[in-house]
Amino acid sequence: MAVDQSGVWRFRDLLPILDDPNRAVTLREGNTPLYDLPRNARALGLDFLLAKHQGMNPTGSFKDTGMTAALSVARERGFEWVACASTGNTSAAMAAFAARAGLRSIVFIPEGKIAWGKLSQSMDYGALTVQLRTDFDGCVRILTDLVKRFPIYLLNSVNPYRLEGQKTPAFEMAEQMDWQVPEHIIVPGGNLANSAALGKGFAEMHHLGLINRVPTISVIQAEGANPLWRTMQENDGRELVSVTAETRASAIRIGSPASWQKSVKVIRSTGGWVEQVSEQEIALAKAQIGAEGIGCEPASAVTLAGLRKLVAQGKIHAEQRVVLILTGHTLKDSDYTINYHRDELFTEAERSAMSSAEKAEQESFRKPPIVLDPDPGTVLRTLEAHMELHPA
Ligand SMILES: *Cc1c(COP(=O)(O)O)cnc(C)c1O
Repeated sequence: MAVDQSGVWRFRDLLPILDDPNRAVTLREGNTPLYDLPRNARALGLDFLLAKHQGMNPTGSFKDTGMTAALSVARERGFEWVACASTGNTSAAMAAFAARAGLRSIVFIPEGKIAWGKLSQSMDYGALTVQLRTDFDGCVRILTDLVKRFPIYLLNSVNPYRLEGQKTPAFEMAEQMDWQVPEHIIVPGGNLANSAALGKGFAEMHHLGLINRVPTISVIQAEGANPLWRTMQENDGRELVSVTAETRASAIRIGSPASWQKSVKVIRSTGGWVEQVSEQEIALAKAQIGAEGIGCEPASAVTLAGLRKLVAQGKIHAEQRVVLILTGHTLKDSDYTINYHRDELFTEAERSAMSSAEKAEQESFRKPPIVLDPDPGTVLRTLEAHMELHPA
């Protein structure tokens, strides 16, 4: 049966949200790989390091695991229209699952601020795509007003059924690690639903006696979109400090995260931390994950950059097992990758903020394309020069 091939619905006994789970709207989401990252581990002085790659979902991000759940509820309740505001991946997932279900979908995205790969998906899957001249937080405000005037099912991350679907990667990780959960899980923080959902998944397994403890869950934000980090610094998580968000990691360019309180609870109850990382640190970490043959989108790379800080601060130790949650696929934002390798990503200010050691570290990962004449001698000489510069 289709639902048995879904990494979300095979756990349907733990997601009691549909009258008939056999009729769930599924694209065979979930069941994502848990990779080891041996070079990244060695570079950080860790014994080993794992990555749960949620970018290996049908539309290329973890949003599919939540969308299969919430869209199934929308169909069961007889809605004709669904809608969301999105930094890109939610809209791609919603458009795909709505199309599968035969529902109509409307997407609000901030104009000019989402990656092309994501925008193309919402068109490909047939959504009505509206680019609003505002940021993500502005899109949320418009949508909140619209749902009061039109019978539309809202699929933003505050939708409780999305959280139910997004808790299932926790079950998969426990399964993949033979029920010996890792010491640490590191999650990127945008609207903060993912960290909340994973925390819920681990807490439920612990409650059922399937695991004997819960991993520490830490959240990493970009310096330019750091409301949770500031909230923890300035008032210890009591009151949200909103910011005007700016980062190239567009999936986490969110200034007023909806699920901040749930996330704070998870971080507190598991003993985790909140860190922030710079644009330069994100770019380097993304290249390092790419060089493992894995790749991810910029927002996912904050996990490795944040881990590096937590290790340097002595919070995470060499023998502890860490799982990075890679939230999106590398092809979501290929412009970013190409700009990085051509050394066209950073501003002058960002460049001059780096020490020469940091510049050299970035340079060691750059692989810009070379244009050559189709002449065997020229190609051979270029290859020899390259080997001299980059010995195995
Ligand atoms: C949505 C998204 C995030 C942020 O997740 P939240 O649940 O909003 O914190 C991070 N990375 C990618 C690739 C995403 O699509």
